[in-house]
Amino acid sequence: MNKDYFPLTPCTQPWMHRLIDVPKVINELLRKYGSPINIHHLPTFYNNVRAYNQVFGQLQLQHQVFFARKANKCKTFAQAAQQPRFGVDTASFNELQQCLDLGCPTDQLVFTAAVKTQEAVRLAISRGVLIILDNAEECRQVADMAAELQSKAVVGIRLSGFMMDNEKLYSRFGVDIEQLETFILDTFQKHTSLLSYQGLHFHLDGYSTKQRSAALAQCLEAADRLERHGLSTHFIDIGGGFLVNYLEYEPEWEEFWEAMREAQLQKRPPLTFRNKGLGLFVMDGVVRGASKVYPYYNKMPKTKFLEHILSHELPDKRTLTEALRERRIEIRIEPGRSLLDGAGVTVGRVAFTKQDAAGQYLVGLEMNMTQLYSSSADFLLDPYVIFQEEKTSTRNVDVVFTGAYCLERDVILKRKIRLEQLPAPGDLVIFMNTAGYMMHFFESEAHLFKLAKNLFFEPGEGAVAVDDFKEDK
Ligand SMILES: *Cc1c(COP(=O)(O)O)cnc(C)c1O
Repeated sequence: MNKDYFPLTPCTQPWMHRLIDVPKVINELLRKYGSPINIHHLPTFYNNVRAYNQVFGQLQLQHQVFFARKANKCKTFAQAAQQPRFGVDTASFNELQQCLDLGCPTDQLVFTAAVKTQEAVRLAISRGVLIILDNAEECRQVADMAAELQSKAVVGIRLSGFMMDNEKLYSRFGVDIEQLETFILDTFQKHTSLLSYQGLHFHLDGYSTKQRSAALAQCLEAADRLERHGLSTHFIDIGGGFLVNYLEYEPEWEEFWEAMREAQLQKRPPLTFRNKGLGLFVMDGVVRGASKVYPYYNKMPKTKFLEHILSHELPDKRTLTEALRERRIEIRIEPGRSLLDGAGVTVGRVAFTKQDAAGQYLVGLEMNMTQLYSSSADFLLDPYVIFQEEKTSTRNVDVVFTGAYCLERDVILKRKIRLEQLPAPGDLVIFMNTAGYMMHFFESEAHLFKLAKNLFFEPGEGAVAVDDFKEDK
């Protein structure tokens, strides 16, 4: 490839373009709230929910969508999840308490925390919120609390250890599916007067539809077995992990990775800061390893991902959809990232630019790595830069955005970004599609930096103004 730059164009929403068109307003917001700010768009979130509901509707499946709110902490999203068949998956005492305080109906909440404190269990039971049990010890604790409260806990059971191509899928979560009957006989049924069994749950790591289909099929078989023990399954919750497609063009994604391999072999200049491999490395003159980033481009996002799981055929040629329908089992999902697709951006202000010893331009931003942090090796979307002053003679420049923490590794994007001119202090950098995990999941207050302000863009009829941005409750 003769190209020497490989753009990764993000998918955008119309509201993002309206925002980009009003730099004066964004500047005012930054003056008011400091940098960075997170700007959200609720209608886009609703559209994502509606799309899932439509799929379930067309398939004539009883269903419920729970927003996994750990993916974004804004109360506004949690409160939005109060419509029929739309609830919230809560994963801590505070998440649960907040949702209850916001008036979320208790039958539209599920409590799935990996570790459940006594306080949280007490709250869930006293309000009648569904608790997903992870293990025998937890089951006993929940039963004990129900006894103390002279109440009954509404529960589901998280399963794991599903078989896939003759191999067991490992997970540290849940009851091993092969141990389910032991769990029921040895633990669960010792407390039947205190526990009201409702259904099965799983949440798988990674993004395989095949694994999810296999897990759902095995849950259906487990439901049949439980029926023989007098336990009737009303729902199966297949968790989250529904893929998001972040990038507009497939060829850009492929060319980027091809060029990455060449850069690792030093056949072309680095595409990343200090030639970081993002999972690739060179051994014996060959590129090895595999990408350690989220699959930012993919052909089967969101509802397509869901449809693919449900259309899987069982050995008797019926689909999972048909099997669910026949048993009148409600299907539930807990998407986090995918409900937030297109629903947020992060804006940071440029503080300075400089060249490092290697001549690399560094652009210091008034923000830090925890305010745009991917659990994968990098966030591979081109940001959008708004220059306060357009230069007359411009020259392309490759820059690396750096953050405010005292760590060498506080580099906001590992990938170098090509801009048509060098930014100046006060210029704005807009990172697209950051609402899912990127802005909140890892944010910290080291150096006593304030956390970013969270705003919701609610434009009226006229020109966009500062008043159109409401603070999260
Ligand atoms: C994290 C999590 C989710 C949401 O996952 P996404 O990838 O954001 O869709 C759902 N359920 C459980 C139990 C989780 O831990």
